[in-house]
Amino acid sequence: MTTIGFVGLGIMGSPMARNLVTAGFEVTGFDLDAGAVARLAEHGGKPAGSVGEAVTGADVVVTMLPADPQVEAVVLGPDGVFETIEAGTLFVDFSTIRPDTSQRVARAGAERGVRVLDAPVSGGEKGAIDAVLSIMVGGTAEDFAAAKPVFDAVGRTAALVGPNGAGQVVKAANQLVVGGTYALVAEAIVLMEASGVDAAAGLDMLAGGLAGSRILELKRETMLARNFRPGFRIDLHHKDMGIVLDAARQAEVSLPFGHQVAAYVQAARSQGLGDSDHSALLAVLARQSAR
Ligand code: NAD
Repeated sequence: MTTIGFVGLGIMGSPMARNLVTAGFEVTGFDLDAGAVARLAEHGGKPAGSVGEAVTGADVVVTMLPADPQVEAVVLGPDGVFETIEAGTLFVDFSTIRPDTSQRVARAGAERGVRVLDAPVSGGEKGAIDAVLSIMVGGTAEDFAAAKPVFDAVGRTAALVGPNGAGQVVKAANQLVVGGTYALVAEAIVLMEASGVDAAAGLDMLAGGLAGSRILELKRETMLARNFRPGFRIDLHHKDMGIVLDAARQAEVSLPFGHQVAAYVQAARSQGLGDSDHSALLAVLARQSAR
């Protein structure tokens, strides 16, 4: 049986680790939140008391952490993954971080003979629970093939999109589209509600036509009910819009709508919505129109 060391059992990592257990992997999990580790143990995983304990003896090590500082600390820091991992082991980082950080992690891994893939995901909490995530992978074809059984256990689609860091560039593009879609759906709701039409019926029409999207499909009811339980937190989308705009600067391209979306996300944070779902962009846009 392939053994997996899993670090980061949050909204996404917990269901992903459980799905790996269900697929027959032996999963040893660690998180700073002891409750999350205990819940994995209830689902057939093994609890670990530290990163080193989760990594020791694993065939594959995976991380699903919030942002660059946590990945840098857990992977590159003292008592981190790379201090314990054996040469030849596959390391897969599912976290959404900057492409250049993923490249730095890959270089540090190569120095120790560790095979590194960046593999950010899309599909949200529901996609993680249902094991239907889309996984955008940066690395070599050989390492991608070796990790494929892991991807198949947590996702529906996995594609190698280029060398290390490329997975993060595709994820940045994904977050640009997701943020932009939320902003436009929010504006559509504000317009319909203010005009006195049945916004629920209106969104049904949008969802069935050319304006249709996964966001309209999955989120129209909760948005209309102003239920902003996360899901994906505004704070994380703020981090992602920073990655998007930095990547655009490095690639020397202009993303005017991306800047607008980043401003909406920033406004949501400054209005105390950092821990709300990213669909809470609706609250910001509604407030702008005094609705
Ligand atoms: P989360 O905050 O719910 O989970 C992160 C987990 O990492 C937490 O349980 C936290 O305790 C743990 N952690 C932090 N520092 C740690 C450390 N030093 N050692 C061990 N554990 C540590 O975040 P999430 O929503 O699961 O997102 C994880 C990543 O996936 C982020 O990069 C996010 O951008 C990305 N993502 C999230 C979603 C979503 O819908 N939530 C969707 C796609 C991608």
